[in-house]
Amino acid sequence: MLYKGVVKPGKMALVFMYECPFCHYEAMLASPLDPATVTCGACKNSFHIAPVDRQTVQYIQTVLMNGRAAAADG
Ligand SMILES: [Zn+2]
Repeated sequence: MLYKGVVKPGKMALVFMYECPFCHYEAMLASPLDPATVTCGACKNSFHIAPVDRQTVQYIQTVLMNGRAAAADG
């Protein structure tokens, strides 16, 4: 069945791109809040990432009403 209305975002995540220092492949991570070691999906080498700030992520989620305020039809 097809729902007749349109559904707005109910939650959102911020994706951050980390470029592999070995091969420049970009790894996508959804708001990594803790330091971590990432293994590159392309060259399989590993590197440490700087985490992102939790309050900054929460601020953006709040401003955008968890994505709802970013819906194109308002
Ligand atoms: Zn790589």
